[in-house]
Amino acid sequence: MLCAKDYASSNTNPFCFSCTVNMPYTNHFKTKPNSASYKFRARVPCVDVACMLNFYSYSDVKLMLHRLKYKGRKDIGFQLGLMAGQRAKASPFFDAIDLIVPIPIHKSKLIKRGYNQAAFIAKGVGERMNIPVREDVIIKHTNTKSQTKMNRIERVKNVGSSFQLVDKLGIHGRHILLVDDVLTTGATMEACANHLLESRDVRLSILCMCLARN
Ligand SMILES: [Zn+2]
Repeated sequence: MLCAKDYASSNTNPFCFSCTVNMPYTNHFKTKPNSASYKFRARVPCVDVACMLNFYSYSDVKLMLHRLKYKGRKDIGFQLGLMAGQRAKASPFFDAIDLIVPIPIHKSKLIKRGYNQAAFIAKGVGERMNIPVREDVIIKHTNTKSQTKMNRIERVKNVGSSFQLVDKLGIHGRHILLVDDVLTTGATMEACANHLLESRDVRLSILCMCLARN
C-alpha cells in the first residue's frame, strides 16, 4: 500500500512486510459492539460485524482501494481477504459461518470493470477460513446512480429495490457472511441483507475491508 506500486508484483502478496504491519487496523475483531456494528444497530439483525481497516479520505487506503477497484488490482482484494480471514479466524467472533457472499455489482459495471472487487476479497476470506464463496445467491439487477452525494435515507431508497435474491431455498437456515470493500453508511449492505433475510432462518454477519471515517 505504502510501496505505491501500480502493478501487481510477481510475488503473490502485493504488500511488503512494512506496509502490512503499518496498515491502519481497527480493533473490531476484539470489540463487540464496535463502530461498524453500530451502523446496523436497530436496522439489520447481525451476528458479528467488523471492518479491518480505518479509511480516512486522502490516505494511502484510498489509493489502495482505487487500485483494487479501477486499476485491475484483484491481487489487492485477494490479499486483504486473506488478512481479514486470518483475523476473523483468530477472533472470538465469526464462528460457524456456512457461506460467504460478496456484495454483487451490476452486470454493466462487471463488463466495464472486468471483475467484482468484492468477489476477490471474498475468495481470500473463504480460502483462509475454509468456507465456500457463492456469487450466485443474490444479483444486482438495476444499475443504481452513484451514491456519493446522497445521505443515508436517500441511499437506502436508491439501492433498496436494486438487488434480487436468486437462491432463496438454497440459503435456508444458513449463517451468511456478507463481504465488501468499503463500509460507508451501510445502505448497500442493509439493502442486500434485507433480501437475504427473506429466506427462512438466515443469520447474517458482515465483514468489510475498510470503514470510511470522516
Ligand atoms: Zn510496502
